[in-house]
Amino acid sequence: MGFNSKVAIVTGATGGIGQQLVAQLISQGAKVVVTGRDASSCALLEERYGDRLSALAGDITATEHCQALVEHAVQRFGGLHLLFNNAGTIPRGTAIETSDEMWDSALAVNLTAAFKLSRAAIEHMRSNGGGTIVNTASAWGLYPGPAHLAYCTAKGALIAMTRSMGRDHATQQIRINAVCPNEVDTPMLRSGFEYRGLDAKKALRELDNTVPLGHVAQPQEIVDAMLFLASEQSRYVTGTVLEVTGAKAVY
Ligand code: NAD
Repeated sequence: MGFNSKVAIVTGATGGIGQQLVAQLISQGAKVVVTGRDASSCALLEERYGDRLSALAGDITATEHCQALVEHAVQRFGGLHLLFNNAGTIPRGTAIETSDEMWDSALAVNLTAAFKLSRAAIEHMRSNGGGTIVNTASAWGLYPGPAHLAYCTAKGALIAMTRSMGRDHATQQIRINAVCPNEVDTPMLRSGFEYRGLDAKKALRELDNTVPLGHVAQPQEIVDAMLFLASEQSRYVTGTVLEVTGAKAVY
């Protein structure tokens, strides 16, 4: 699709989907700013990608860090065109199993961080010719799966935020969309197998059989949809959510 001379911020860059996304963006010519809580993981990414990637460690739930990330992209690479709100955390449990901390962290990482970073990015994009934001939501935000109350609620709100922001900022040539994957073969999915005491290989094979297209998504299959939404090829698409599920229905 070609992202030559584009500058992107990616959150959750050390995760299964995030690593693949960063690799693709860089291989297609973009310069990428990443962030994370752990400075050593950030430094490793800088080592791997040299002058095409710059990391700023910090807390994406903090307003000041979100503003600093946008300033960093502008100072280091001369602008900001693409934002991927991809970081996510998945506390597990029904209402009675969900502590205040689980609830707060689900909303802070999956929703509030995306709001604060989008707000900071939009402030820059609206006076610099526009831009594109892609949020990693979830099919579970549309059709909640069992016993993940805080996660499903946060992703559902992220979907509403995407639609609302997409509408508000279209006149400023800022496109805002989301992908909604079902299961993706990443550490997040595998942590669920561990949580339930399942053998990961066997559980993955069984899950493959539940997907009409025949297999649980690989990160690249989600990244391809994210890159479409970030690219010129989707230039008339905004305020939408794209289900990338292999036709697996949650209900
Ligand atoms: P992952 O666990 O491999 O990656 C999650 C990333 O989010 C990591 O880089 C992690 O460091 C980051 N993160 C978590 N908590 C954070 C915090 N407090 N502050 C900053 N960063 C934090 O999982 P993944 O599958 O690559 O997840 C990427 C996105 O895809 C998430 O938003 C997730 O909800 C979404 N998603 C995943 C699946 C799936 O089955 N794997 C399905 C639907 C949606």
